[in-house]
Amino acid sequence: MEEQISDSVEELDAVIVGAGFAGMYQLYRLREAGFKTRVIEAADDVGGTWYWNRYPGARCDILTVDYSYSWDPELEKEWTWSERYATQPEILRYAQHVADKHDLRRDIQFQTRIKRAKWDEDAKRWNLLTDQGQKIAARFYIMATGCLSMPKVPDVPGADQFEGASYFTSGWPHEGVDFSGKRVAVIGTGSSGIQSIPLIAEDAAQLTVFQRTPNFSFPAHNGPVAEARLAEYQRDVNAYRQAARESLIGVPADKPSVSALEVSEEERAAVYEKVWETGELAQQIKFNDIQLNPEANETQRQFMHNKVRQIVEDPKIADLLCPTNHYIFTKRPCLDTNYYQTFNKPHVRLVDLHTQPIVSITRAGIDLGGDEPEELEFDAIVFATGFDAMTGAIVSVDIAGRDGLALRDAWSDGPQTYLGLMSAGFPNLFMITGPGSPSVLSNMMVSIEQHVEFITDTLKHLRDHGYDSIEPTALAQDRWVQHGNEFADLTLLPTANSWYMGRNVPGKPQVFLPYVGGVGRYREICDEIVDRDFLGFTLD
Ligand code: FAD
Repeated sequence: MEEQISDSVEELDAVIVGAGFAGMYQLYRLREAGFKTRVIEAADDVGGTWYWNRYPGARCDILTVDYSYSWDPELEKEWTWSERYATQPEILRYAQHVADKHDLRRDIQFQTRIKRAKWDEDAKRWNLLTDQGQKIAARFYIMATGCLSMPKVPDVPGADQFEGASYFTSGWPHEGVDFSGKRVAVIGTGSSGIQSIPLIAEDAAQLTVFQRTPNFSFPAHNGPVAEARLAEYQRDVNAYRQAARESLIGVPADKPSVSALEVSEEERAAVYEKVWETGELAQQIKFNDIQLNPEANETQRQFMHNKVRQIVEDPKIADLLCPTNHYIFTKRPCLDTNYYQTFNKPHVRLVDLHTQPIVSITRAGIDLGGDEPEELEFDAIVFATGFDAMTGAIVSVDIAGRDGLALRDAWSDGPQTYLGLMSAGFPNLFMITGPGSPSVLSNMMVSIEQHVEFITDTLKHLRDHGYDSIEPTALAQDRWVQHGNEFADLTLLPTANSWYMGRNVPGKPQVFLPYVGGVGRYREICDEIVDRDFLGFTLD
């Protein structure tokens, strides 16, 4: 049914879409700078990722000390994380606490989706339409819509026929799910699958895991935050945060300077063992050629395969769980608690979709084909099938820029952005952690804060100098896209069938989406562009 479209138009300085960590901080900053701002959010509360992903085992994979806001010195002191990797409820409580503390909700309109956005060149405004039929005109349109917020539609035939219960990790029921005594299927072995499978196995009577591609996963060794780490952080919080901003992935860490092939086999094994025991994403790459040289990469890949084979008792299952079709660190590695051990349980089965593909989901379960066809019955199916990452939420809004140019058309061969922040032909439209910025290759909190501060300073600059609009030049954008692609091509990252490359979504253009240069280097580039009078942007 077409929504009732209102006749009145509300005028604002800025509309932010999304009330996750990006939208919340952006609201705080723009309000502080005196811009009349509203956030539009589809959910009924703040938190974004941590509002939606409530599946069992959902946690962050960056130490939560690092994965937290750095802009509120009081918050740094008053909030203590209970674990190295906080659970989703704790991170959601943190987001809610920030919203309460800064009274953010009074400028957030919940349960509302932005459907359309059209640039009005004469008025230099974005005309926005919500799914409530509400019209808003705003000079600045800021998409804080999230990189992993648009669930991928499962490409499995018959998904709507199943008469049992279906769940999506990305939209888990708020009241939780009781799997006890149930025959459960989990489809997908990415990060959400790997986090949830051990806990679902604890409850379910039978668990069948459907795997297309195994992923590398390190044990999280979760527990209280190590005293030494806390001491380092508390000794000088500002220096700690600054080191994160200047680092590669947004977490203070030494840059590796030695090749994996320069050291003896014993030394390498000792390094990899230590990495395995550390359980920290930011400490996993210890040699400078792991992401560059297949031969170097193979040494750590083999180490990981051996670990899996030591843990998993059935050698055939262990083989299936060893990733062989991509190099380690060409996809974001997972952190787990007892993932591989779960496959030693007698009531847990692994189905390899390469040899037994899903023919169809049926009313009662899942039919498998291949050499050994089977009809399996289930009480519940869990879809841990991932996201249309980085571009999905942006292009799901019907966006028309200058001369009616549709963003979907402009991006039909892959996203075209300058710095992952703006796109030529779409003045005053900003994306927080958009494609072409470090975003998902980083501790997102660091990337979010940098973009929010860049956008806020830019809006202030425009206001203070009497400009109405800002837009990248086509030339600057082309060069940035080219630079991003060439940089990525120096590494092994584009070789994987990953969501970084859009390869998990049928029909999606296959280009490397995030910027591989690291958050420190990227920040320097952004700062230099501003210093050089917004080099590559047109201000009007
Ligand atoms: P989100 O939190 O995704 O919020 C975007 C919001 O926009 C959503 O609430 C959505 O409802 C809303 N929205 C989108 N489109 C519209 C629309 N058209 N109209 C209205 N509202 C809209 N990152 C890390 O750095 N470390 C981690 O450990 C980590 N763990 C993760 C674990 C999971 C399970 C997932 C899914 C992601 C994880 N991430 C992690 C990435 C995470 O998405 C970011 O860290 C961060 O939370 C993103 O914040 P955001 O505000 O940019 O986007």
